[in-house]
Amino acid sequence: MNHPFPDAGAPARPVVPITVAHGDGIGPEIMEASLRVLNAAGAALAPEIIEIGEKVYLNGASAGIEDSAWESLRRTKVFYKAPITTPQGGGFKSLNVTVRKSLGLFANVRPCASLSPLVATHHPDMDVVIVRENEEDLYAGIEHRQTDDVVQCLKLISRPGCERIVRYAFEYARINGRKKVTCLSKDNIMKLTDGLFHQVFDEIARDYPDIQNDHWIIDIGAAKLAVAPEQFDVIVTSNLYGDIISDIAAEVIGSVGLGGSANIGEHGAMFEAIHGSAPMIAGQGVANPSGLLLAGVQMLVHIGQADIAGNIHNAWLKTLEDGIHTGDIASEGLTRRTVGTSDFVEAVIERLGQTPNRFKSAVYDSSVGAVEIAPYRRRQRQAKTFVGVDVFIDFPNPDADRLAIQLNAAAGDSRLKLELITNRGVKVWPQGLPETFRTDHWRCRFMLKGEGGAAEVIDLLTRLAGAGVEFVKTEHLYKFDGKPGYSLGQGQ
Ligand code: NAD
Repeated sequence: MNHPFPDAGAPARPVVPITVAHGDGIGPEIMEASLRVLNAAGAALAPEIIEIGEKVYLNGASAGIEDSAWESLRRTKVFYKAPITTPQGGGFKSLNVTVRKSLGLFANVRPCASLSPLVATHHPDMDVVIVRENEEDLYAGIEHRQTDDVVQCLKLISRPGCERIVRYAFEYARINGRKKVTCLSKDNIMKLTDGLFHQVFDEIARDYPDIQNDHWIIDIGAAKLAVAPEQFDVIVTSNLYGDIISDIAAEVIGSVGLGGSANIGEHGAMFEAIHGSAPMIAGQGVANPSGLLLAGVQMLVHIGQADIAGNIHNAWLKTLEDGIHTGDIASEGLTRRTVGTSDFVEAVIERLGQTPNRFKSAVYDSSVGAVEIAPYRRRQRQAKTFVGVDVFIDFPNPDADRLAIQLNAAAGDSRLKLELITNRGVKVWPQGLPETFRTDHWRCRFMLKGEGGAAEVIDLLTRLAGAGVEFVKTEHLYKFDGKPGYSLGQGQ
């Protein structure tokens, strides 16, 4: 018989300090359950427990984490985290986003492989790894209400951010023997932001001729992932799309409760389930601990305890194979016993040292799998030329012609000349369509005639303010190496 503790008799391995948070909702139940398995398997861990989440938010820490907890995180650099509940309402920032961004955990790696025939799925051949960018995109959390009608959220995509995540995805693919990397973006609409992501993907793909690459628009890509996931291998995508498709992928293999994820960066790593705190089933002892347990497996590989990781993964597979399932994955024909959280992990512990019979065993090697990314090398800056300004105006009257007359009168002989007005991105002046609905938020594009820069913008804004025009923000328009760094109005 295999010994449940492969280290028995071997010199003691170094104990690794980790920071642990039990979270909210089902968090404490599944964390306690997962740690029980890790301990029983002989993981050499020294957990430091920190408090995060709802209680901390409601005590007045708007990020849901105390300063003392940061101290532990920055020291251990390994965070094993249960899901938390972000209280509804204004003023609370997402703790997950704060931790990922503060520690620079730029890559979110979410493996999603079918467990057929152990868990029912329509897609037995699915084996996808989603590499999600973790720090940018709409998750910058920069939002403003600008007029009575309109709020905005800023989508920030950077070249260093794209290069790092795309390179990570290709390196991950190479190290893990994967054949293809697929980029998902919406660059047919967001030509600059998603366009940059796709462009960087194409550039970096050329450095990996041994790995196939392709690109899908995210909407059809997500649909294909739901109905033909076996077409995908490694997927790389930006933050929001990655968040959405990870849940789709986890549900396709059986349950969102099965998904674990690693958040990797230069200054640390965080391991968590992909699902949330599931308040509806909290305290009932029925939650599936698998997502957090598999995140723990990823953590053990990360800290050099790959043999224990493999032991746990195989015991978990054997448990599923023996038909011992939590309610979320129970199905007729495959489930022999439907159990709660505690009985499920007891069954896993009983099977430590065993391997599945019908399912391929998991094998991990700590010397393989650490993805190294070269430090970012800034390319030569492009020549940047000021060519105009978009002035966003709060104007409650739906008459675009009247707004244009008012703006032209106010601008007078400014070198910035009104060229275009859009409302929610659609051209309404000159020659807009009467059918176009208009809010109170107008983008008014002034193009530079002759020489000039910021001084012309200040002059224009002074004139507009003097005429009582209420501007709510400006965006400068530049060309980079002669190419416009701004989008056209729809219908322009
Ligand atoms: P959720 O993932 O908590 O729940 C979605 C559905 O999946 C529910 O029906 C739930 O019962 C089920 N489910 C989730 N995990 C399960 C498990 N382990 N076993 C069995 N069933 C499970 O998503 P939600 O309801 O949208 O969010 C609830 C809370 O979680 C919100 O406050 C949200 O902000 C938070 N959240 C936290 C994280 C995180 O901490 N990483 C991630 C997502 C959501």
